[in-house]
Amino acid sequence: MKILVVGSGGREHALVWKLAQSPRKPHIFCAPGNAGIDGLATCVPIKADDIAGLKDFALKQQIDLTVVGPEAPLALGIADEFRKARLKIFGPTKAAARLESSKSFSKDVMTANRIPTAVSRTFEQMDPALAYVDAQPVPIVVKADGLAQGKGVVVAMTREEAKQAVRDAMEKSLFGQAGHRVLIEEFLDGEELTIMAFTDGKTVVPMIPAQDHKRVGDSDTGPNTGGMGAYAPAPIATTALRDQVTRQVLQPTVDAMARLGCPFQGVLYAGLMIVNGTPYVLEFNARMGDPETEVVLPLLKTDLLDVIEAVVEHRLDQLAVEWRQETAVCVVLTSPGYPGAYPTGLPIQGLPSPSNSAPIAVFHAGTKRDAGQVVTAGGRVLAVTAWAPSLLQARAEVYQAVPAISFEGRHYRTDIAHRALPRTS
Ligand code: ATP
Repeated sequence: MKILVVGSGGREHALVWKLAQSPRKPHIFCAPGNAGIDGLATCVPIKADDIAGLKDFALKQQIDLTVVGPEAPLALGIADEFRKARLKIFGPTKAAARLESSKSFSKDVMTANRIPTAVSRTFEQMDPALAYVDAQPVPIVVKADGLAQGKGVVVAMTREEAKQAVRDAMEKSLFGQAGHRVLIEEFLDGEELTIMAFTDGKTVVPMIPAQDHKRVGDSDTGPNTGGMGAYAPAPIATTALRDQVTRQVLQPTVDAMARLGCPFQGVLYAGLMIVNGTPYVLEFNARMGDPETEVVLPLLKTDLLDVIEAVVEHRLDQLAVEWRQETAVCVVLTSPGYPGAYPTGLPIQGLPSPSNSAPIAVFHAGTKRDAGQVVTAGGRVLAVTAWAPSLLQARAEVYQAVPAISFEGRHYRTDIAHRALPRTS
């Protein structure tokens, strides 16, 4: 069986790593991949958003199944193009991916279906948006409607800051077309939680709940990043809370998309704020999260290939998906300066040789090979994950492994999973 994984980050390395463990021994290709993925898959130099190039490759190579990692190709309609060409693909259509690519669409779906979320208004003109800010309490949240690589959201502490965010998006086009429509949203004070789910458009199978760490510095300080680490399961997600999220968020969203004529197939990611025990949706993503994938997939007991096939063939209701009763902790190593400007091409030392038996994995997020040496090639460079019967053990193991891996100026947070510690000890 031939599989193509699209993308080049830590999430895609984790997907390839998990698929490579399938007893069916698939031949995996990855486009474009990275220096960690190339040990498990044949990397092909086609960019993740080159839909025509990917389709040509899949047709020529007679790829049996394509798995899409990042949001950009989904928003561009890769799933539609592949299905037109009778190629099997795991991921939503362009219309269904609007749950992520348009925050106003996603808000409309939530509001119409009474899915709990922050109160929000959408604006296409700047003056009414500024006037609305004046009438609202602060803090308040300003969001560019479209995809802005995680940079289109401003949590404003003052009205002036909120108005500046509106002007930046609507007047200065800081996020291009993505910011010409803006959402102004009520600030929710609580704790964030991610629950992703596999869905075939009808059946919803939630994954283990995870918690991400967005700020660059310890104790959640400094600017937001793509994610500095994660752990799963997050103890805040009690069984009752998980059930509530499935009943009130995931299943009604999937049902609503089917009724709208754009059934959602793939992974639905709910970014939640838990306010006094009640979950509210902050955002939906139309694909797996990064670094959440790097902690959730190591805990999946069932063959990922079986799960993906069940999704693609609309028979997820017939599969019992099982998880390990363990905890996984992931620490992300970043380039100096990230999330601002950073150098690339820094040689990486101390990378352990990949092992299938040790309960630890070093997922490459931004690496490449340069004359045989693995060097840095992105802001987030590596995602190191350990899993163990307890959170304390997994955390101790990951923090024992990380210092041995080095490159000039590398940075990582030393407090991943800090919120869980008082809850587990
Ligand atoms: P990313 O791509 O990084 O997931 P995004 O650009 O799609 O992010 P959101 O996830 O909607 O944007 O928001 C980014 C962050 O802003 C959230 O993780 C959360 O910390 C904060 N945030 C968003 N909406 C609210 C809200 N209503 N109240 C409080 N904080 C919020």
